[in-house]
Amino acid sequence: MSDTIFGKILRGEIPADLVYEDEHAIAFLDIQPQAPVHVLVIPRKPIVSLADAQDEDRELLGHLLRVCAQVAEAEGLPEGGYRVVTNIGEGGGQSVFHLHFHVLGGRALQWPPG
Ligand code: AMP
Repeated sequence: MSDTIFGKILRGEIPADLVYEDEHAIAFLDIQPQAPVHVLVIPRKPIVSLADAQDEDRELLGHLLRVCAQVAEAEGLPEGGYRVVTNIGEGGGQSVFHLHFHVLGGRALQWPPG
């Protein structure tokens, strides 16, 4: 089992504002939103990061991206544009070591990120 804060959310040990869930993934509001809409999409499987995913996870990774797009659609983001990003490792800005995709939108987003 994952021993991260997201593992605790998956096990129902701490609360989260869920916006989506299925057999393989859940999505919930980020506790420190960086945009008007900031949702995290995570697999139930405790993969540390994209760098730790294996060939056997290809279908799951595709599913997670589809969930990102569906969450964005449900939040009304496609018209104004939005961003999906995953941070990898401390140097990449990762602070929770359970794979997650950030879905950010609702404001104009700058590029490149810091
Ligand atoms: P990262 O820095 O890419 O690993 O992203 C981790 C994200 O998890 C950050 O945006 C945090 O604000 C968010 N986060 C941390 N703890 C919680 C929590 N309990 N519920 C929701 N989001 C959280």
